[in-house]
Amino acid sequence: MQPKTSTLERWQFSAAVLLPVVLALVITAAAVLGFIFWSTANIDERALERQSAMFEQVIEARRIRLEHELASVAIRDDTVVNTRLMFNVNWVHRNLGRWMHEFFGHDRVVVLDALAQPLYMMEDGVSVEPQAYRRISSPVQQLVNRVRAAVPASIVPGGPPRPVSVSDFAVVEGVPAIVSVMTIVSDTGAVVQPAGTEPLIAAVQFLNDRTASQFNNEYMFEDGHFGLARSVGPERATHPILNAAGRFIAFFDWERDRPGLMMLRQTGPALAAAFAVAAILVFLLLRQLRRSSAALEAGRRHAEHQAAHDRLTGLPNRMSFDVHLARVLTDRQDTGLQLSLLMLDLDRFKQVNDTLGHQAGDELICAVGQRIRAVVGPGVMIARLGGDEFAILAVSRDGCQDVATMATAIIDAIGRSFDLNHFKAHVGVSIGIVNASGGNAEPRELVRKADIALYEAKAGGRNRAVVYEEHMNELLQLQHTIEGELREALLRDDQLSVAFQPLIDQASRKVIGAEALARWHHPKYGQISPARFIPVAENTGLIEALGEFVLRRACELGAGAPGRTIAVNISPTQLRNPRFSVQVFDILHQTGMRPVDLELEITESILLDDEHVSAQNLRTFRAAGIHIALDDFGTGYSSLSYLKRYPVDRIKIDRSFVSQLSEGHVSVAITQAIVTLAHAMEIEVTAEGVETEAQAVILGRLGCNTLQGFLFSGGVAGERITAIFTDKANSPERRRRTKAA
Ligand code: C2E
Ligand code: CA
Ligand code: CA
Repeated sequence: MQPKTSTLERWQFSAAVLLPVVLALVITAAAVLGFIFWSTANIDERALERQSAMFEQVIEARRIRLEHELASVAIRDDTVVNTRLMFNVNWVHRNLGRWMHEFFGHDRVVVLDALAQPLYMMEDGVSVEPQAYRRISSPVQQLVNRVRAAVPASIVPGGPPRPVSVSDFAVVEGVPAIVSVMTIVSDTGAVVQPAGTEPLIAAVQFLNDRTASQFNNEYMFEDGHFGLARSVGPERATHPILNAAGRFIAFFDWERDRPGLMMLRQTGPALAAAFAVAAILVFLLLRQLRRSSAALEAGRRHAEHQAAHDRLTGLPNRMSFDVHLARVLTDRQDTGLQLSLLMLDLDRFKQVNDTLGHQAGDELICAVGQRIRAVVGPGVMIARLGGDEFAILAVSRDGCQDVATMATAIIDAIGRSFDLNHFKAHVGVSIGIVNASGGNAEPRELVRKADIALYEAKAGGRNRAVVYEEHMNELLQLQHTIEGELREALLRDDQLSVAFQPLIDQASRKVIGAEALARWHHPKYGQISPARFIPVAENTGLIEALGEFVLRRACELGAGAPGRTIAVNISPTQLRNPRFSVQVFDILHQTGMRPVDLELEITESILLDDEHVSAQNLRTFRAAGIHIALDDFGTGYSSLSYLKRYPVDRIKIDRSFVSQLSEGHVSVAITQAIVTLAHAMEIEVTAEGVETEAQAVILGRLGCNTLQGFLFSGGVAGERITAIFTDKANSPERRRRTKAA
């Protein structure tokens, strides 16, 4: 079950926390990366645009510079003189060709006459045959034509001829180049030439690797090259060079400046590291979160377990029992399984708790839980409902048979003595069983019925299992009505009465007194046993009135029979009343009975009570000569040591004990021990419930002082006991046995 839950939890955690966080992380990372790449590309694009614009300006400046350089030699009087008036090749070479090559780096210089015939040509600083002009004439001629065409427009009437120049990009000798052509004119106007006849000077500057490396150095192009074809590849940028007519002449291409990419390369590792750190942090955070949520969950489950389980035994408590019962009942309708509910209540647990202490009581409860578990096996629900109450919920196919066997096994198991720390304890268990057969049983109804069966088990003598039957319900209903009926009966004088059971002297078998027993004859229900109505009276406080009624009747009878002992049963409730002794003395006084003839029967539980008032009352009674008898000895804790604290005059060995007496039985030895001890403490011993002569003989041999039981007589009416008392023979009642009233 455990791993299943944790897998489910892990899954829930993943769905609720992990997934959204990871998703958010991935989306954030993607957004950041996307933005970085976008801005990188954007920056690179801007850089490219800027470099292209710059190249455009630079190349244009180069073209204009060539014109200006040409103008510096073409607009001069001596140039006109040396080219037109008397052509001096040496001068031309020195002052035009070589000079322009050396100062401006021009690659070709040509001087043409009015008819555009070459007069001079320089190639790479060297004067060559003018005919070499052929090699460059085709691109140069076009510019020459344009110059000639522009001359007329430059003429200012009456003024000196103005220089005309044209420059353009062209492919010269298969190499891209800037070509400039200019008219050679006088700068002072001193040398006059007819318009259109001016000699021309043309200069060619190749856009070759040399030019490119100048560009690279001056304008910081990376690995720039001029070429006739557009270069390809993402790393290189290209800018076209067009001539005035808009034709592609050449391309300049260079290594693209990519500041964005560079930035990305530089910051990339740091960024990746940051992402990794963030991811690790998130992972750690999530793990911590999962751990703490797991811890929380464990805490919650622990608290839930605590709330549903009994701390002492670890068994489910009443709350979870109720829940489980309701669920099982609902499920049963589908499965058709048999359900049995067992209510368990320990017998004599209170004595163990009171005499051995709460710790021993706790130990005992735990041990009981374990023994029950050992009997019923694992699959069955055992709950501790509180105190010494347990419940078992058994589900089976064939129901009743199993459950009866189970209950017997539990009684046997609990009946074995418990070895507690330093102590041995003996308890019993009473079990009420209800089988939920057919129909939709209601949980509360089921519990109520099991409780009724449990009540019956206790009333039937404890340490037994009773299966619920419908008639018990009626009896219980009767219990409920008893209170009201008893209240009513106490107000009338025709239902309640007192019977007297003779007390027989063992040695002489003569009647020496009687025990008063309450009797209730109900007009509708007939004779109701004191075993049934006395507990109700005790629980409802009616015992005060009932007890007073019995006491008064007993004393009235006792007053008329001095010398006979009249025993009256006193309930613990009465004895705990501080006014009880006053009441007893009042009645004795009113009836005229002698205190020494009265014997009050109390039960062991009073001795365990540790009640100051009870002890005080007992002392007062004994001081006044009233006898105290300890009733039902042998059913409870049965410790004679208590008798030192609360001295009594008599103990009455319980009838359940007496009924076991037979020759050779262990009970004989125990009874012998009790009698010997009691006598040593100057306490008389009465045996009650004597039903057979054999019992009477054994009890006589053991030294019991007084006998009581159906062997001699049951309870008889007051008149009858008076008659017995006054019977001169006062003979034993054996031969004239009467039935119990
Ligand atoms: P108890 O004090 O032990 O009274 C003796 C019970 O045993 C009586 O039952 C009596 O009828 C019955 N008994 C007597 N001899 C024999 C016998 O040989 N065999 C058997 N099986 N039973 C015998 P009863 O009258 O039903 O009274 C039951 C219990 O009710 C009493 O037990 C006593 O504890 C209580 N009780 C009766 N009357 C009063 C009363 O006036 N006040 C108080 N507080 N309790 C009373
Ligand atoms: Ca009694
Ligand atoms: Ca008794």
